[in-house]
Amino acid sequence: MELKKEMYKIEDTMKKEIENISDYIFKNPELGNTEFKSSMYLTETLEKYGFSVEKNYCGMETAFRGEIKNGEGPKIAFLAEYDALPGYGPEKKPGHACGHNWIAASTCGAAIVLSKLINKINGTVVLIGTPAEETIGGKVPMVEKGAFDNIDIVLQMHLESRNNIACTTLAIDCLKFQFRGKAAHAAAHPEQGINALDAVNLMYSGIGCLRQHITSDARIHGVITSGGSAPNIVPDFTECKFHIRAGKRKYLDELTEKVVNIAKGAALMTGTSVMYEKFENSFDDLINLPTLQSLMKENLEEVGIENILTEKESLSGSSDIGNVSQVCPTMYTEIKLETKENCYVHDEEFLNYVNSSQSYDKLHKGVKAMCGVAIDIFENKELLRKIKEEFDKM
Ligand SMILES: [Zn+2]
Ligand SMILES: [Zn+2]
Repeated sequence: MELKKEMYKIEDTMKKEIENISDYIFKNPELGNTEFKSSMYLTETLEKYGFSVEKNYCGMETAFRGEIKNGEGPKIAFLAEYDALPGYGPEKKPGHACGHNWIAASTCGAAIVLSKLINKINGTVVLIGTPAEETIGGKVPMVEKGAFDNIDIVLQMHLESRNNIACTTLAIDCLKFQFRGKAAHAAAHPEQGINALDAVNLMYSGIGCLRQHITSDARIHGVITSGGSAPNIVPDFTECKFHIRAGKRKYLDELTEKVVNIAKGAALMTGTSVMYEKFENSFDDLINLPTLQSLMKENLEEVGIENILTEKESLSGSSDIGNVSQVCPTMYTEIKLETKENCYVHDEEFLNYVNSSQSYDKLHKGVKAMCGVAIDIFENKELLRKIKEEFDKM
């Protein structure tokens, strides 16, 4: 408890510096995998506080890992995100409409606050910079390269329209299908043609039929990206793209197989050939661990955050943090951004708030709560044992 009080005081003295991180990244919005200024700002901040920093982490130019340690205790990693979204304002420029400036400031803030207490901690404080959440899902290749293998706990927060410690993210597969047939004059020699548009159309209908027989958490949504070139030519090439999602990876694997079988069926019916591949990384669902959730709830309440959702309430999108949670105990928390009217991530309006005084208030509370969870785990060996036991069961 003493250490936590000291941490709160340290955070209070570092407020300006933590706000500066949010402000710098907000004013320099960079798209996924091109976050050069943002990652440099973050790594320079870590170096200033005595962290040893590895740049180009996992062979990714804008990824990094910073560490500061004392003793052989737990390794606790905070995950920074710092990619922006395209197409905001009259000039349709990149903007931080998902508040990743705030994520970077909260997680880097937590790491540098704890670095000031490192002599009183037995363990390692890690900040991992994870690029391109909005595009390829940078954490996916990082998981594959073992970036989280020797980490005990991962912590991250996101601004949202509610406080939530029971976040769900859907597992997702992203598949592209290409049908190939044979071109012919559509009126003079239609019997010579093999119609790839029919194939893509039958596939779309087949998926429509499948939708009646899937669980309510699943989602299948797609577009036809190529449907032929002229009405008087039998289309010899068509393409469609689908996102297939479900609450659990295991069920999603079954569902994806069914969608692939529909494509094969459509090809068989029309005499076309079909090829398919993933066009974006697959994400897994987010795993929540009860001990970590209640630890976060206590620490949020200690800093004055109330009305916290503790039960899964609604479905959400998909995120690469899910993949991290499958290999390492992860606590992902949503923090309510108080605005006059509810506004949501990726809204243009969200940009007015993610670097505002309202967001700074939540930023400092978020930093304190994440540091509090870390201190609890550093100080109480039993907690980590329990969390790992829950994780192994999952
Ligand atoms: Zn987003
Ligand atoms: Zn986001």
